Amino acid sequence: MPKESIKKMNIALVAHDHKKNDLIEWVKFNKGTLQPHELYATGTTGKLLAKELKIPVNAMQSGPLGGDLQIGAMISEGKIDILIFFWDPLEAQPHDPDIKALLRIAAVWNIPVACNRASADYIISSSLMKEKYERVLPNYDDYRERVVNRG
Ligand code: PGA
Repeated sequence: MPKESIKKMNIALVAHDHKKNDLIEWVKFNKGTLQPHELYATGTTGKLLAKELKIPVNAMQSGPLGGDLQIGAMISEGKIDILIFFWDPLEAQPHDPDIKALLRIAAVWNIPVACNRASADYIISSSLMKEKYERVLPNYDDYRERVVNRG
């Protein structure tokens, strides 16, 4: 498939400290597939990816300093197409509410999310990566226009 027909997507990459090696290896393996796309990452993840793999990454704040929320805000603005988020299921995180917020807003806006390498492999190898895939944009008009009982 010629490169021009690949839709450029905005892909967010986030990894907790014990998962950073996993993410770096995964990005290294998939560097060719990821390169036509615009990459975003939380601060430390982005810095490591740029340093070790020499790829351009738009780095936000470090996750615990607001980076997860910045990516979440971009999702709510329709600016992120895919979230690869290797979170650590074995360690408590100081920014747990932010992690929940990021995963929640990705569900709200119907963003594909991979939380581990296997699911990231499925996403990156999907034929939908090569098509002009338009995800269903949920319509929240009813929610926006709901009547609020103000007591
Ligand atoms: P970091 O943030 O890439 O700055 O380490 C990741 C996170 O914990 O959200």
